[in-house]
Amino acid sequence: MRWSERQRAMLQEMGIRLWQTPQPDEPHVDTATATGTPPAPAVAANAPVALVRGDVARLDWPALREAVASCTACALCKTRRQTVFGVGNPRAHWMLVGEAPGEQEDLQGEPFVGKSGQLLDNMLRAIGLTRGEAAPEQQVYIANTLKCRPPGNRNPLPDELEKCEGFLIRQVQLVQPKVILAMGAYAVQSLLRSTEPVGRLRGRVHQYQGVPLIVSYHPAYLLRNPVDKAKAWDDLCLAVEASRVRSASG
Ligand code: URA
Repeated sequence: MRWSERQRAMLQEMGIRLWQTPQPDEPHVDTATATGTPPAPAVAANAPVALVRGDVARLDWPALREAVASCTACALCKTRRQTVFGVGNPRAHWMLVGEAPGEQEDLQGEPFVGKSGQLLDNMLRAIGLTRGEAAPEQQVYIANTLKCRPPGNRNPLPDELEKCEGFLIRQVQLVQPKVILAMGAYAVQSLLRSTEPVGRLRGRVHQYQGVPLIVSYHPAYLLRNPVDKAKAWDDLCLAVEASRVRSASG
């Protein structure tokens, strides 16, 4: 892969030295569905479709946004300033899933607008992607497992994750991304139903509702552990490859 000056600057910003840049030939694929084998069914076996309760499974974008904005299913509705629905291209090829809104997100109503968001934007820019207006190939869609801020940025509770997950499932169904990047333990827990550490799950292609899913570190973790930015870069390269394979298979 050749890097433009701009990409080099971004990689430097991420703390990645170019000679560590991986050469992703063949990603290790967890199941046969991401390769040239028959397209995955619309809903994979592990997809928690039953958890898209009632009408949520049939909502279109405006109705889903409204359902999130008026949700009172858990106690977070009492402490939030506003819900944080998601941002980006509704038909994006890349969908990124984080954990929960923090203070800035709760104030501004958009995911990843704080410091970890800046890092995320730089990482995306390094591979030619953006959250700003662009075609579906370039503009990502970003959502969180929780749509409301947990007070004091505490970890999401199981009950909150369970109540909120139908919204995320529906967002994935509407976007129909070519690849999903699950960032951090809670995104992994929600999407893959796994409590294995991120470090054990990254480096291979998982499947979620028939969509290739790559596990990576949460940007806030990377800010605290910059040494792992190189691994996050590997994860992005694997996601690039997985989305190309998926696009080629239709
Ligand atoms: N961390 C997240 O996981 N999501 C946000 O929107 C902000 C910080």
